[in-house]
Amino acid sequence: VPVSRIRNFSIIAHIDHGKSTLADRMLQVTKTVAQREMKEQFLDNMDLERERGITIKLQAARMNYTAKDGEEYVLNLIDTPGHVDFSYEVSRSLAACEGALLVVDSSQGVEAQTLANVYLAIENELEVIPVLNKIDLPGSEPERVASEIEEVVGLDCTDIIKASAKAGIGVDDILESIVQKVPPPEDTVDKPLRALIFDSYYDAYRGVIVYFRVMDGEVKKGDKVRLMASGKEYEIDELGVLSPNQIEIDELHAGEVGYFAAAIKTVEDARVGDTITLVQTPAEEPLPGYTEAKPMVFCGLFPTDSDQYSDLKDALEKLKLNDAALSYEPETSSAMGFGFRCGFLGLLHMEIVQERLEREYNLELITTAPSVIYRVTTTEDEVLEIDNPSLLPDPQKRTKIEEPYIKVEIITPENFVGTLMELCQTCRGEFKDMKYFTLNRTCLIYELPLAEVVTDFFDRMKSRSRGYASMEYQLIGYRENTLVKLDVLVNKDKVDALSTIVHRDKAYYVGRALTEKLKELIPRHQFKVPIQASIGAKVIASEHIPALRKDVLAKCYGGDISRKKKLLQKQAKGKKRMKAIGTVDVPQEAFMAVLKID
Ligand code: GDP
Ligand code: MG
Repeated sequence: VPVSRIRNFSIIAHIDHGKSTLADRMLQVTKTVAQREMKEQFLDNMDLERERGITIKLQAARMNYTAKDGEEYVLNLIDTPGHVDFSYEVSRSLAACEGALLVVDSSQGVEAQTLANVYLAIENELEVIPVLNKIDLPGSEPERVASEIEEVVGLDCTDIIKASAKAGIGVDDILESIVQKVPPPEDTVDKPLRALIFDSYYDAYRGVIVYFRVMDGEVKKGDKVRLMASGKEYEIDELGVLSPNQIEIDELHAGEVGYFAAAIKTVEDARVGDTITLVQTPAEEPLPGYTEAKPMVFCGLFPTDSDQYSDLKDALEKLKLNDAALSYEPETSSAMGFGFRCGFLGLLHMEIVQERLEREYNLELITTAPSVIYRVTTTEDEVLEIDNPSLLPDPQKRTKIEEPYIKVEIITPENFVGTLMELCQTCRGEFKDMKYFTLNRTCLIYELPLAEVVTDFFDRMKSRSRGYASMEYQLIGYRENTLVKLDVLVNKDKVDALSTIVHRDKAYYVGRALTEKLKELIPRHQFKVPIQASIGAKVIASEHIPALRKDVLAKCYGGDISRKKKLLQKQAKGKKRMKAIGTVDVPQEAFMAVLKID
């Protein structure tokens, strides 16, 4: 097809507003996916995604659509992940499009995620088409939500499309307005090849499969290409389009979207945002906007059974093939033994990796509390990046600690403003601004240390607002603070995996709360177990877990054999994930206890 009949678009929406359902519906209406192939939500094809109902990885689909003008158009839908951890990937997929559908649940309204994504779309100069979804719901308020979009986002909503992705209402109007409103790509087929990578994944047989949009020029099967950021060169073995299953073709031109395979060994060599050009006739400059994903949140992963160390290593290697943003290096902890210090884009990314390690690789892991990267200036004027609290240099060896700060935007109904401000305050937040969007939407802007948010800030925000508030954040830089390292001693042994970095003003409080929490979480042993929190050599809080009473033990060992068996079975069932630290068994929850302190 000529470029004038190509439309490249994506769908942006807050989680649960119906993006995946709408995408499926469009595939169905355009007969891209036959009815019998139609699984629930074709685009979210990772199990984890389906379970959590979120889109983690981007996918793309090419649809043929005959518009009212009788012409056949090619519509390329490029899906975006719906979570702030992946906002760089969102921005790269938007850069591959000329337009975006803004899907808003008409029974809810504009949320923080909607706004953040719209801003990204506007930055990328996309034509944004608003759509009110879920108009079939009794609670749907199309007029209110339309005026909210006009006021908050600043889009003209005079003839906004009212749709129900579920009931199949308005889907034709949406397809038609994509054809009419989204501009076709520029015809730059005569320029040297520049194609933008917006996604990639590792396939065991063909190597990395790269999803890309041709911005300039053309690319053919057999071409020798160079990836401009990585500098690596490959020969294209396989080239094709996504409909949404891969279909091989011989060439792709400016404006088109497709995939290629070229025996690339890891996704690190074909990163999202990199530019593909030809080795023979290279482009002078890469496409703008490339950055390397940088891990923001770190934690230790240790196998509960030290025999699983090499399995864990293999599993991380395999995951890394498919996840350029994941980082890991061996960590040896005096308390935990051998494991890995892993870096993630954010908390969701961290959870996904942990879950995949456990489910897909059958590992039983102990995870330590997440940490951010601290910048520490030493007395020698060296600047160290510390991602592991136990490695913080002693106070006499450092002159300054800086920590990452974020700007947080919370959108909430007005009646939760007070409680959410209080939450931000307890998390060392600095109030910046408050905006009244509409009657029911207030926007709070705070600057907060990232460390306070990587705990359970999100859950607390949700529970304080009964699920109504939503938030977005972005990194704004590093700031100096008076931070100290809080150590924990279990049975007089320092447990490095329990060390945390806290603000000095909160240290006593956290120390007390933490020892109390650990006292609840660590089971009783046959001996008394003291638990202490300390700053340097100074103990600031202490508790102890009393010993088990002897007669309880005597009873169960003295009973008849069948009773004893039953008891053991019962214990095995309720067996908690534990790590033996010295002679004390410490459960997984204990390592997360510091996150649960209000
Ligand atoms: P996403 O997170 O934006 O991808 O949202 P999903 O497409 O997964 O939809 C979230 C939930 O809303 C699912 O339970 C859908 O079945 C439901 N849903 C989506 N569109 C509609 C709609 O038009 N009407 C109704 N009643 N429910 C919908
Ligand atoms: Mg989805």
